[in-house]
Amino acid sequence: MNNVLLLPGDGIGPEVIAEAKKVLLHLQSEYGLNIELEEALIGGSAYDDAKDPLPDATLELAKQSDAILLGAVGGPKYDAVERELRPEKGLLRIRAELDLFANLRPAILYKSLAGASSLKPELVADLDIMIVRELTGGIYFGQPRGIRTLDNGVRQGFNTLVYDENEVSRIAHVAFRIAQKRNAKLCSVDKANVLEVSELWREVVESVHSGYSDVALSHMYVDNAAMQLVREPNQFDVVLTGNMFGDILSDAAAMLTGSIGMLPSASLDKNDKGMYEPIHGSAPDIAGKNIANPLATILSIAMMLRYSLDKKDLADRVEVAVQQVIANGLRTADIADNHSAIGTSQMGDAVIEALSQ
Ligand code: NAD
Repeated sequence: MNNVLLLPGDGIGPEVIAEAKKVLLHLQSEYGLNIELEEALIGGSAYDDAKDPLPDATLELAKQSDAILLGAVGGPKYDAVERELRPEKGLLRIRAELDLFANLRPAILYKSLAGASSLKPELVADLDIMIVRELTGGIYFGQPRGIRTLDNGVRQGFNTLVYDENEVSRIAHVAFRIAQKRNAKLCSVDKANVLEVSELWREVVESVHSGYSDVALSHMYVDNAAMQLVREPNQFDVVLTGNMFGDILSDAAAMLTGSIGMLPSASLDKNDKGMYEPIHGSAPDIAGKNIANPLATILSIAMMLRYSLDKKDLADRVEVAVQQVIANGLRTADIADNHSAIGTSQMGDAVIEALSQ
């Protein structure tokens, strides 16, 4: 039995989580998925309830669960709230409290949606890349940092890029294990021609590789990786990189697909416990209208089944069901193009119907 915590959050979060919950309950009743579902508040809804975007009760449930499925947090209603109590702080805190250091961002584009990409359809059809980004270290967290005034009166901003070998090794292990579950190709992205941190990164990744001889490892400088990502994205299978490079490359890769409502993500700890969430935000502009695309959240369930619950068969089933629905021409408004659009709950129902076939 696995405990799964649902955190709907704000805006369209509750709407997309409702559809994901329907899918989980279907997998439970029809495919024997052995889970217990709990639900808790996070973000703005938690602030409204208890003046805290991550209440202790939520954190406690999160610590006890095997996997967490989050909708999204935030909204203009909270713009005036003091920084420490804003919805996004709840998200940052839960990631830090659970030590979710491995961020997995797939960029997948189904053939029939290739027109949505900013690149030519032939370059991106069947795109399927997994970016593994280190999430809790590197320049975003390195000390010292700050803004100081030099002796000559000039102000100077400074940050520190730092990774120790344990941090590199644990994210490298995650990336190699993921590559083993995919096409066994891993490209580690760094800037080893300029940065000592990258020199060490490369050395450690090489040494971790010796335990994964079935995976083909290559290295690429980040500037070249950015170029290759928009030139010939299909050359990549799994990309491993640090926090800042991963931040930038994963957003670029997401945009290659052109459909923010279709992309899931995962953040894992060292035991593969994870928090799963769509990459999109709370979309306040369309909240409460039953028009949000729930597929990113439903695909987050597939990632949860694959990486935290060790249910590859069911993960495949969910992904095939989503492919089927898209191939059948069903579209929410964000990806409708010249199809007529269906609503959030109809899309959830369509996935369940495809799962039943
Ligand atoms: P957003 O992702 O919420 O929305 C960007 C655009 O994409 C909007 O036009 C929106 O309608 C559309 N969109 C997003 N998800 C969609 C879906 N599932 N179906 C159809 N259309 C969809 O980004 P934003 O507008 O910059 O941010 C809105 C709020 O969300 C802010 O408060 C921001 O801080 C928060 N946010 C939260 C997360 C998170 O919870 N992980 C991530 C990003 C932004």
